Amino acid sequence: MVRAIARIDLGAVERNCARLKATLREGAELCAVVKADGYGHGADACASAALAGGATRLAVATGAEAAQIGRRFPHVPLLTMGALTPEDLDAALAAGSDVAVWRQGFRSLVADRARAQGCRARVHVKHDSGMGRLGNPDPIEVKALARACAEDPDLELAGVWTHFATADEPNSDFFEEQLDRFAAVAEAVKAEFPATIAHAANSAAVFRDPRSHFDMARCGIAVYGLDPFQGDPAERGLAPAMSLRSYVADVKQLAPGDSAGYGQTWRASAETRVGVLPLGYGDGVRRGLSNNAEVLVRGRRRSLVGTVSMDNTTIDLGPTTDVEPGDEAVLIGTQEREAILAEEMAARLGTINYEVTCGISARVPRVGE
Ligand SMILES: *Cc1c(COP(=O)(O)O)cnc(C)c1O
Repeated sequence: MVRAIARIDLGAVERNCARLKATLREGAELCAVVKADGYGHGADACASAALAGGATRLAVATGAEAAQIGRRFPHVPLLTMGALTPEDLDAALAAGSDVAVWRQGFRSLVADRARAQGCRARVHVKHDSGMGRLGNPDPIEVKALARACAEDPDLELAGVWTHFATADEPNSDFFEEQLDRFAAVAEAVKAEFPATIAHAANSAAVFRDPRSHFDMARCGIAVYGLDPFQGDPAERGLAPAMSLRSYVADVKQLAPGDSAGYGQTWRASAETRVGVLPLGYGDGVRRGLSNNAEVLVRGRRRSLVGTVSMDNTTIDLGPTTDVEPGDEAVLIGTQEREAILAEEMAARLGTINYEVTCGISARVPRVGE
């Protein structure tokens, strides 16, 4: 019996990476994205499993993440993708990470810091092909930056890259537009500097269009067996790695009209029994799931009733139930023949699977198995 636990199926992470690697065009590398503690799954253990499954590189978002992963995997090429403060830049470079560059000012800062640390910094020049976020939107400036990096003795031009805004939206053709814009930039940079790798694809793009694979794909969500298109991951040969489990701490009898939880948002319409689960929004079981979710106990779906509180959640077990205190409760994952996907929880919350697993709080231990 455990209060709340996120079990991480590391074999699934490994197989998901093998599946992604097999989908990539010949010669393209798989870079496993382990930012935000591996999308809430535990970065270190998932990175190991991803490498075992065929990933040859890792990526993170922040300087602190680079420090953690760089220390743990000193021989695996690492890319820090995010914008960095000077302090974060120092941390990323000290960790041996490649960094992203899209302005001349930051390029010279990277060169200064690398020289101060006595190393050469590997940089990936970022083209903003339409995401409208990080990156340089002007192809001429991207090419000039690449040249400046290649000519700088403190820098090594390692990559040219971009990020898609709509790879997961099958009905949008903006993806193709971004792809065409980036392909032209990548081709020009590689013509001048053939050792440079080009990369663009996230998980959705990998499944959507092999033209997006270039020399490497940066996959996060699919590594964890979550569907980049918010459908059923099994349809793409992916297996969810995380399950979120708790147990029935108490079973109580309610009479018609009795309520459960803060604000009396649910009342028993007839005699029934209610199970109390000792986890709540303090664990990342979002309050938006109040009267709006199902939980598995003894292989059956039970309605979450009442308001999710910080440390407790209630479920309706019906008037005649064999459920007893101590029984396992599954909020995400499988039990007997039933399954609740993170995608289902996300749909109920009006969000995406990414936010569901990232939102499972640090109070819930991650246990790899
Ligand atoms: C998070 C991230 C990825 C991974 O995207 P998924 O959709 O999780 O595969 C790739 N590239 C960048 C720049 C990212 O920030």
